[in-house]
Amino acid sequence: MRIIVQKFGGTSVANEEVRKLVVRKVEKVREQGYSPVVVVSAMGRKGENYATDTLIGLARSANKNIAARELDHIMYCGEMISAVIMASTLQASGMDAVMLTGGQAGIITDDQFNRARILKIDPKRISSLVKAGKIPVVCGFQGVTADGEFTTLGRGGSDTTAAALGAALMAEMIEIYTDVDGIMTADPRMVTNAQILDCISYGEVCQLAHQGAKVIHPRAVEIAMQKNIPLMVKSTFSDEPGTLITNISEGDHGGTIVTDRIATGVTCLNNIAQLRIDVYPEESCTASFEVFKLMADNHISVDLINVHPGQIMFTVSGEVVERAAAELQRHGYQAAVTYDCAKVSVVGGGMREVPGVMANFVEALAVKHIPILQTVDSHTSISALVKKEDVQAAVTALHEKFGLAG
Ligand code: ADP
Ligand code: MG
Repeated sequence: MRIIVQKFGGTSVANEEVRKLVVRKVEKVREQGYSPVVVVSAMGRKGENYATDTLIGLARSANKNIAARELDHIMYCGEMISAVIMASTLQASGMDAVMLTGGQAGIITDDQFNRARILKIDPKRISSLVKAGKIPVVCGFQGVTADGEFTTLGRGGSDTTAAALGAALMAEMIEIYTDVDGIMTADPRMVTNAQILDCISYGEVCQLAHQGAKVIHPRAVEIAMQKNIPLMVKSTFSDEPGTLITNISEGDHGGTIVTDRIATGVTCLNNIAQLRIDVYPEESCTASFEVFKLMADNHISVDLINVHPGQIMFTVSGEVVERAAAELQRHGYQAAVTYDCAKVSVVGGGMREVPGVMANFVEALAVKHIPILQTVDSHTSISALVKKEDVQAAVTALHEKFGLAG
């Protein structure tokens, strides 16, 4: 059996017209001799009848603090509707499709409602369906605990479903169909001259996704990478070849020499707050231990960490900053908070040990008079914290400076 997992995002299953395009994508891999396993997200985006956000809105209208378990049940409905409609559409086109919930597809998770982790996959049922020539249509984003409780995998979790099924079924390829022609050098909604990348490494796309690029869930990339299964990001709406994600790091791949590319993409993460705590220099060590322990005990993740004699600086999500500051105050630490920041990042596997990358980064922002509040870098990325009002200009300037503009 040569399996290809094909995941279709919300816009790809939103109405009858686009579902016909999905039928064509499924037919195409069958004609090539593959057995498709289809994964679908809930239909449409915010505001549309059966979209996840609409269902959440309905639930919150009954109780704005709806329990996580109940919320998972209402969110489940979105993918159920979508999978039934997609399986029925395939059946109407003469294909033997069978819809399955995440649980029926064998996806077992832990019991963290709204953000469950997949513990294992039992692919027996899907395998036997595929062997019998049927096309499983699996609800993305869903799991079930060993006790039978319904769970969801967090926003963007259908990508994770596709990757996990691909890994469990030893698929030859995982295709992620969406509303853009592939992974681009920046979010095309922010940067109009962003370009499609022919290929990108698992590591680079993981970094882009962790640093805010919403095009694919980082967990999906990690799972595919562990099993070395190629991922393709493509559009449902075109026949463009899309972006290939593999572990390539050198050599010629369809005209793009990956290591020659210093920067691969620019991205940003919004709604970040910066906290600064001044301490006596001789107390820096104990104080930073206490501060970070306090954040850990309160399940607050920290980023952009700088500790100097006399000063501790870090960022947290804007959603938890009030809680973080209050906790610190309760323990005698007065934090100066800068609200409404964003982290802009340039990612590129080829920037390792290349001199002058930081100078270019800083220059791009300096010529646009964009103040940098903090920076952090790794072998393959440079990030800066900027004010929210500068984020659009910063992303555009960096995209231009690093030669990514089309
Ligand atoms: P789906 O519902 O198909 O999963 P998403 O909305 O999750 O779709 O992801 C697709 C969107 O990701 C695009 O419409 C685009 O605006 C956004 N995006 C962000 N960064 C990038 C990038 N670097 N390349 C392509 N798309 C990106
Ligand atoms: Mg998505």
